[in-house]
Amino acid sequence: MIIQKNIALKSFTTIRIGGNSNKIYLPESLEDISRLKKILLLPKTLVIGKGSNIAFSDNGYKSDIISLSKYHNRHISIIDNKYISVSASISCARLAKFCHKKSIAGFEFLHGIPGTIGGALAMNAGAFKQSIWNSVDSVNVVNSIGDITNISYKKVKTSYRSVDKNNILLFLDALLVINKRKVFDVNLLKEYSKHRSITQPVRQWSSGCIFKNPSKNTPASSLIDSLDIQKRKIGGIYISKKHCNYFINDGSGSCKDLIQLIKYVSKLIKNKYNISLTREICIYSNSNE
Ligand SMILES: Cc1cc2nc3c(=O)[nH]c(=O)nc-3n(C[C@H](O)[C@H](O)[C@H](O)COP(=O)(O)OP(=O)(O)OC[C@H]3O[C@@H](n4cnc5c(N)ncnc54)[C@H](O)[C@@H]3O)c2cc1C
Repeated sequence: MIIQKNIALKSFTTIRIGGNSNKIYLPESLEDISRLKKILLLPKTLVIGKGSNIAFSDNGYKSDIISLSKYHNRHISIIDNKYISVSASISCARLAKFCHKKSIAGFEFLHGIPGTIGGALAMNAGAFKQSIWNSVDSVNVVNSIGDITNISYKKVKTSYRSVDKNNILLFLDALLVINKRKVFDVNLLKEYSKHRSITQPVRQWSSGCIFKNPSKNTPASSLIDSLDIQKRKIGGIYISKKHCNYFINDGSGSCKDLIQLIKYVSKLIKNKYNISLTREICIYSNSNE
């Protein structure tokens, strides 16, 4: 197993924010993951995917981190023409492309989500009115007592961009259901990608949407849009003109800038609409901060 220390955590996030790490464990096999049981059981140990929904404190993160980026057991396979078995370390884009090649409908929405299946399971990631847990049959996980076990979707409470991980420390893989009632459309993946590149700043340093939508009919972006603060900048972090729920790092941004901009926007929304926005981005800091 590879173990790294004192690494700039910004390189583990798509918004490029964070100080230095303590130990980062990069397990390569299931045996390595079993060896990490004690570390996984520590309350502040963090499992990360591609870092597309996280930022770290400017002071770094002093607890241990586990990244599946070097995990060898990456697989996607079709089982009985009914299910897809997929490792947590596989990217969402790769799963979407795999399904597209096999003419399997229902997973196109994952194409533009720049995370792993593990991260998508942890966040209940979704787009275009679909989310990953709508397709989950079961997951293999390391549970809260450190055992590797299979859990049915029925035992996991999920809601919009939220998953109750009380009994889950780490997602290993998922069994996804192929919905035969969905008709495969060869153009759908392209259409979704085009829509994203027109409406979202996909090539810049961000973590996607900063806030969750307060309700189905109230996108956070339309609330922020109404404030007329497009391009508002604090330090090196600014509100994207293309999609105002995306905050962009110009390269010099810090976690402090990010938190200040989040607070600034939240306060304006609260004052104008009496709505308390909830963060979608996960910001990790140390207990003494
Ligand atoms: C340009 C852009 C567009 C985006 N578009 C969307 C979108 O359309 N829809 C959407 O839902 N999100 C979107 N996101 C956010 C992000 O891509 C998703 O939340 C994604 O699922 C996160 O996956 P990740 O592997 O990057 O996880 P990370 O960001 O590394 O981690 C996110 C959370 O998941 C946990 N986690 C990660 N892997 C595991 C694991 N194996 N076991 C247990 N916990 C784990 C982490 O502890 C953390 O709490 C976007 C982000 C960007 C930058």
